[in-house]
Amino acid sequence: MSRLDGKVALITGGARGQGAEEGRLFTSHGATVVLTDVLDEEGEQTAGAIDNASYRHLDVRSESEWEAVVGEVMAEHGRIDVLVNNAGIDLVKKLSATTLEEFERVVAINQTGTFLGMKTVANAMISAEQPCSIINISSVAGLQGVANHAAYTGTKFAVTGITKAAAKEWGRYGIRVNSVHPGMIETPMTEDLRAFTDPEIRVKAERTVPLGRMGQSIDIANMVLFLASEESSYCTGQAFTVDGGIQP
Ligand code: NAD
Repeated sequence: MSRLDGKVALITGGARGQGAEEGRLFTSHGATVVLTDVLDEEGEQTAGAIDNASYRHLDVRSESEWEAVVGEVMAEHGRIDVLVNNAGIDLVKKLSATTLEEFERVVAINQTGTFLGMKTVANAMISAEQPCSIINISSVAGLQGVANHAAYTGTKFAVTGITKAAAKEWGRYGIRVNSVHPGMIETPMTEDLRAFTDPEIRVKAERTVPLGRMGQSIDIANMVLFLASEESSYCTGQAFTVDGGIQP
């Protein structure tokens, strides 16, 4: 039996990068997957290339869009067993140079988006009275301060925290809530960073990683699969780091 047989999973930010990889891995383990994003063309293409996946537009900042998408998925599939709050943006900028508008945009997508997803999907999960799993994608920046990423770091700490609070509230309903903390992962988000584009800087960056390489989306997807499946049925409220050993 596959690890997600019969399960329905909703993944935000699933048009590309880690979210798309999780979609591919989940369906290969028996799940039906709904990928959502604001990149509609890329999302349709990604979902179209995966058996048992579909795509829907969802800007995670919008409560009405969350309600519409969750309603549609419930009408079509009758259940949502797994939610992966994966959508996110980075902002590489000194705190003193960050405008209020930039700060609020990062908060709206990374933090408010995660809150809205948990809130909207949990109502469907609670009434379903079955084991469910919510996985919130934080970052190593949700466990330690990262210079020149103050806004991003703040939102990722918030994701770490809301995960722990929700786990305490919803354990009684069989809803597990955990966070995943990727390190340096090679995706469209990081493709323009010098640690990925400049071979010399990349070698230096990789030397700071005990396992000696940058991470790939599949490294994160494997952890997310574990947390989505019943193999992690006694884990909730926890922060799972996948960073090649950077964290102490
Ligand atoms: P990515 O940029 O490839 O994927 C992020 C996705 O989120 C994109 O498809 C993007 O369109 C989508 N998105 C952005 N704004 C959105 C919105 N308002 N509504 C819905 N979707 C939106 O990057 P990734 O590396 O795959 O990132 C996935 C998650 O992993 C993010 O939460 C990111 O913060 C986190 N993360 C990434 C790294 C890394 O090194 N790549 C490290 C730590 C954490």
